Amino acid sequence: MKFEELRLDGDLQASLHTIGFVEMTDIQERTIPLIRDGHDVFGQSQTGSGKTAAFGIPLVEKVQRGRGVQVLVLEPTRELAKQVSSEMKKFSANKHVKIATIYGGASFNTQIQALKKAEVIVGTPGRVIDMMKRGHIELEGITAFVLDEADKMIDMGFFEDMMFISEKMPRDRQTLLFSATMPDKLKHLRSKFSRNAHTIKTSSKVAEDVLKQFYCEVSYTRKFSLLTHLLENERQGLSIVFCNARREADDVARNLKESGINTKSLHGGMPQNKREKTMQQFHDKKIDVLVATDVAARGLDVKDVTHIFNYSIPMNAEDYANRIGRTARAGNSGIAISLLSRNDHDAFRKVQSTFSYDIEEMNAPQFKVRPFRKHNYSYAKGGARGRSQRAYAN
Ligand code: ADP
Ligand code: MG
Repeated sequence: MKFEELRLDGDLQASLHTIGFVEMTDIQERTIPLIRDGHDVFGQSQTGSGKTAAFGIPLVEKVQRGRGVQVLVLEPTRELAKQVSSEMKKFSANKHVKIATIYGGASFNTQIQALKKAEVIVGTPGRVIDMMKRGHIELEGITAFVLDEADKMIDMGFFEDMMFISEKMPRDRQTLLFSATMPDKLKHLRSKFSRNAHTIKTSSKVAEDVLKQFYCEVSYTRKFSLLTHLLENERQGLSIVFCNARREADDVARNLKESGINTKSLHGGMPQNKREKTMQQFHDKKIDVLVATDVAARGLDVKDVTHIFNYSIPMNAEDYANRIGRTARAGNSGIAISLLSRNDHDAFRKVQSTFSYDIEEMNAPQFKVRPFRKHNYSYAKGGARGRSQRAYAN
């Protein structure tokens, strides 16, 4: 179904035309009409399926200019807050809805100025609460509350913050919750946010016609050499190498760099500003290969990622789906290659039993053996308060 058929407000339809949104994705087709009709909606669909527009488009349409803050969108990380805010700004390029982006680690003053005029707030829970307590955010006029990437917010220990904010809002507002996965913990908590929400789940299949998945058996000691070979020979656009732990990500990045590959690591142990800088460099193609952990890279939307490499296989099968969803986005094709040594087989079997993906075996090519040096790191335990152990591991 096409966006045109929704007969959206003319300004909004013109903005969608400008950014090339013609056909709705599944989740958009099924949730936008409900949201426009004022229903509470819990939407679950794979990463990259267009959840931002699913809530962003109808909410931008509903906002009334000049009437103060009406929409609050919560995001788990500062990167996502910025990304969602910039996407919503595109939808409202003609309507000029005022959107304030509120996240930690940046100047209060600029954000306070933006809040004075804002009709929509997109922010991370910690800074939003901070601004509420300082009297800069007024929630009385809120008509819609969005919990985006709800699984990740729960993972990062934001549940209490989400509840706190929710309780300060008018009861009759519309509540929208979007998530890529629905872990048990989140399932149990849903009733706390809304009792009569429509639950919409689209099939969690990835676009298998454009995303080709392979696995390659290799001993652990030769894994790094194979990865380097593949990066040197297979790579076309940008690549992401996924690791299960921070230490592994740093080691892989450091050794790749020594082999002359333009790369950086991205994980939860890095300070926010460094993470953000690295993301920006990857967006700008100043680095070719990002070596990342799951938490740091989840939900991120970078165009032109052609290859995903799993240097280790995640214990949580949903993380595998999230990883490979970083490529083959918005109609482009992509390749995901999992490097399996003995200690990856359990996790890989779990992936195969959870999804009915078609993952083809690939024979290892001839490659040169290279040294892989491990380093000693010490990671600060700092970061957002209330983070779960799992977040620290990543
Ligand atoms: P999710 O939140 O489900 O992971 P996003 O909202 O980040 O996914 O969307 C993924 C990408 O797809 C973004 O680059 C977005 O601009 C693009 N996109 C979303 N909906 C459409 C659409 N209907 N037509 C074309 N591109 C779209
Ligand atoms: Mg999203």
